[in-house]
Amino acid sequence: MLGIIFSLIALPYSQDALEPVISQETIEFHYGKHLQTYVDNLNKLVAGTEFEAMPLEEIVSKSQGGIFNNAGQILNHNLYFMQFSPVAAENHTPKGAILDAINRDFGSFDAFKAEFEQKGTTLFGSGWVWLSADKDGKLVITQETNANNPVTKGLKPLLTMDVWEHAYYIDYRNRRAAHLQALWQIINWDEINRRYTE
Ligand code: MN
Repeated sequence: MLGIIFSLIALPYSQDALEPVISQETIEFHYGKHLQTYVDNLNKLVAGTEFEAMPLEEIVSKSQGGIFNNAGQILNHNLYFMQFSPVAAENHTPKGAILDAINRDFGSFDAFKAEFEQKGTTLFGSGWVWLSADKDGKLVITQETNANNPVTKGLKPLLTMDVWEHAYYIDYRNRRAAHLQALWQIINWDEINRRYTE
């Protein structure tokens, strides 16, 4: 029997909760249409294959072509959408273990943000900029093109910014740098710290 294998994640906030940084209209398209399409495509592609019983991280490390692209984009977007909280929340600065690691590996939170924004702004074409931890807990920033995810490099992904134009064109038009700079206002550092320490 054909069923739904992968499903759209539920957002932990309402679709207008990230305004004015990300508009409800962008969430409706980015989450409701782009991410939904990746989920629908992957379900069609994996039906009856060895991949239908695998977690996304495993599919991404073992597949290529359409299955890799759709599984990678679901994994990327799940980590992306789950890392936000409304502007009024009180978790938009890092604390605890993740703050200690940022200070150790980048010098300061401001220096980290500057390097992260610079790598997001200079990534040519579509892709993602990531903060990840290596197997020793050292933090690294990487640029990944298209559907790629740092798990394929043996890294643990912690935080990401989507630099595909669909992530920002409704709200920021061509101003990618302004979009990246604004996203710090909605990053939920409790969630990033949880990913780092788990
Ligand atoms: Mn996207």
